[in-house]
Amino acid sequence: MRKAGFIRSTCRFDCTDQTAVLERNDFAAMTSSSENKSEFEKSAAILKKALNLMVKNRIPATPNHYSVWYAFANKSNLDLLRELSDILASGFCTETKSRELYSKHIASASEKSLETVKKDLERMVCEMSSYITDTSSGTAMFQTKLSTSFEKLKKADSGELTIEETMSVMHEMVKNSKEVARTVEVFSRQLTKAQREISDLKDQILVFQKDASTDALTDLLNRRSFDLDLAAMTESDRPFSLIMCDIDHFKRLNDTYGHQVGDIALKMVARVFIENNRDNTASYRYGGEEIAMILQGTPVKVARQIADSMRRRIEKLTIIVKETGMKVSNVTASFGVAATDGGEAPEQVVKAADQQLYEAKRLGRNRVMPMSL
Ligand code: GH3
Ligand code: MG
Ligand code: MG
Repeated sequence: MRKAGFIRSTCRFDCTDQTAVLERNDFAAMTSSSENKSEFEKSAAILKKALNLMVKNRIPATPNHYSVWYAFANKSNLDLLRELSDILASGFCTETKSRELYSKHIASASEKSLETVKKDLERMVCEMSSYITDTSSGTAMFQTKLSTSFEKLKKADSGELTIEETMSVMHEMVKNSKEVARTVEVFSRQLTKAQREISDLKDQILVFQKDASTDALTDLLNRRSFDLDLAAMTESDRPFSLIMCDIDHFKRLNDTYGHQVGDIALKMVARVFIENNRDNTASYRYGGEEIAMILQGTPVKVARQIADSMRRRIEKLTIIVKETGMKVSNVTASFGVAATDGGEAPEQVVKAADQQLYEAKRLGRNRVMPMSL
């Protein structure tokens, strides 16, 4: 697994519907009320509608496209809703348009900056290729001149040229060599400059990529990464386990010691997760004081052991408030663990782990559920 989460799935729908036309009642049905449904049923219904529309419009099921259509079906972004409704009312949304909608309405500031960096890189590649063309045409010209000069010098060899004529050929050769040396020197300077720019841009890309996928406070991967990775995991039909963790009585901790101490506690708990990450695991800030860990190819029994060892480390944490010397050592967390052999909807796996977490809270907190496996 990469540091920034699981490899994103880019699989396409096996779409056999060649008509690719929106049925008018889709939008009307989409806006019908579903208030009395449970949260999960609601999101499953939105997901279904979003996927239907994507299939009809032949939009590939990449995470970016998917977030556009999900937001549309969920009516969570009014500007997007308005713009995409207009497009659909006139018939069809192209993949390019969906990409545009993503960058306009969904992409984060850092993703947009990443786009700018990409454009800078493209500009540099164009500039470099024109330097190379100029330099190679300069050196090609030099080669022609050099051959002509050599031809002339051959005559000098056979005594057909005067000393003055020979000197003039030599003079011409030196002049041409100087010119080509200058061209090559300019080119090499431009190359060095471009190398520096490329390396700066590479650093910027890494920063933007990290910003777009990580939570600034805890350094954990963010909720967006969780949603994308979980979708990719469930889509790939590979088995995985999910650990959901929630810090116990965190509100009380904030109220008693202040929000800053709360933040430090959150960061320390996050560190325990980060230190427990392996090649096949990744940890995410799921919500306020909730942390999730996805463990690829890990049986639920092993996931439970990992959760319990993190729980034990968390209960041993101590925060020392520098100004007052006060020690806070009553931080605990509850855990819920679930697993899937693949093929389940992402919401189902989260729901199962959440139910176990709820049980852990109900039974008194600072524990991992299920109790034994
Ligand atoms: P429980 O054991 O049932 O989980 O109780 P709880 O107090 O932890 O849960 P509750 O949902 O009542 O409160 C969660 C609190 O977490 C409220 C919110 O202010 C706090 N919180 C959420 N995010 C942050 C954060 O980034 N920093 C700090 N300091 N507090 C946060
Ligand atoms: Mg909570
Ligand atoms: Mg809590």
